Amino acid sequence: MREVIIIGSGPAGYTAAIYAARAQLNPLMIASSVEPGGELMKTTEVENFPGFPEGLMGPDLMANFQAQAERFGTEILFDDVVEVDLKGDVKIVKTGSGETFEAKTVIISTGAAYRELGLPKEKELSGHGVSWCATCDGFFFREKTIAVVGGGDSAMEEANFLTKFASKVYVIHRRESLKASKIMQQRAFDNPKIEFIWNSAVAELQGEGSLTGVVLEDTVTGAKSELALDGLFIAIGNDPRVWLVENQVELTEERFIKVEGRSSRTSLPGVFAAGDVIDPTYRQAITAAGSGCVAALDAEHYLASH
Ligand SMILES: Cc1cc2nc3c(=O)[nH]c(=O)nc-3n(C[C@H](O)[C@H](O)[C@H](O)COP(=O)(O)OP(=O)(O)OC[C@H]3O[C@@H](n4cnc5c(N)ncnc54)[C@H](O)[C@@H]3O)c2cc1C
Repeated sequence: MREVIIIGSGPAGYTAAIYAARAQLNPLMIASSVEPGGELMKTTEVENFPGFPEGLMGPDLMANFQAQAERFGTEILFDDVVEVDLKGDVKIVKTGSGETFEAKTVIISTGAAYRELGLPKEKELSGHGVSWCATCDGFFFREKTIAVVGGGDSAMEEANFLTKFASKVYVIHRRESLKASKIMQQRAFDNPKIEFIWNSAVAELQGEGSLTGVVLEDTVTGAKSELALDGLFIAIGNDPRVWLVENQVELTEERFIKVEGRSSRTSLPGVFAAGDVIDPTYRQAITAAGSGCVAALDAEHYLASH
């Protein structure tokens, strides 16, 4: 039986693996067969991860995480966890290739998926003008013309934040009123750099190699128009990856895994959660990494006391 199994290989999972491996817990990480490395594999330059003053590419940062986890003995399986039974003292973890593992503790670090528009070229232009994270990428759009898609609080927050950098920020929204709280709406309405484009959906992304604009479709008349842009921020929500455990551990109202205070302790003893799957607010690589450290330390303390 394993001391600890870590599910997911983003910054949270790898950091948990580094700490668990250095604590001699011989962690097994099940990293995903199709998307190992997590969300940063989808981006280009990462400039805000401490320790890299010149910045580095997202996939290079994740390769460093992996190398550091392996250096201390983490065993990594590039497979998917398809089923778990976490209720008893012995945790059961089954993979897509049919293997079954047992562990005393499990760390869930499966992240959260940003919702996509579902348009052709969206993946190809990710990190090349198309972004899901204003905190991460706003800095690249100084004096540029950009747009935010969405009508909720996060879209308003992103739009306001992006006016620090961009010369012009459009907010593209499908309806003619916003879902965002009144205070967030007012802040956006009062911002002279923000212009709303109502009743409109992005129908097409334009540009070869990097985004140059979008085709908008009027959601009432169906009329199409073009809008030249240097950047497009998609803020239509994100979905914590909880399907694996949703019937076993307690979730929050927003469907993140619920943890006790600043710990990684879930509602089940011996089951810990870390990173974006517990975090509706900060959602950064460094906060996910910090959270992974917490989970490994919590697992270590749990094992020591059982
Ligand atoms: C385009 C983009 C750019 C970004 N840029 C920055 C930036 O510049 N700086 C910054 O700090 N943050 C950035 N972020 C945010 C950052 O990527 C996330 O906050 C961070 O990756 C969260 O880490 P995590 O470990 O919690 O989850 P994730 O990175 O989402 O990793 C979770 C992993 O678990 C795997 N997984 C899920 N389910 C299973 C399963 N059943 N079995 C096995 N594996 C599973 C997933 O495939 C994935 O590999 C960016 C995000 C995006 C989308």
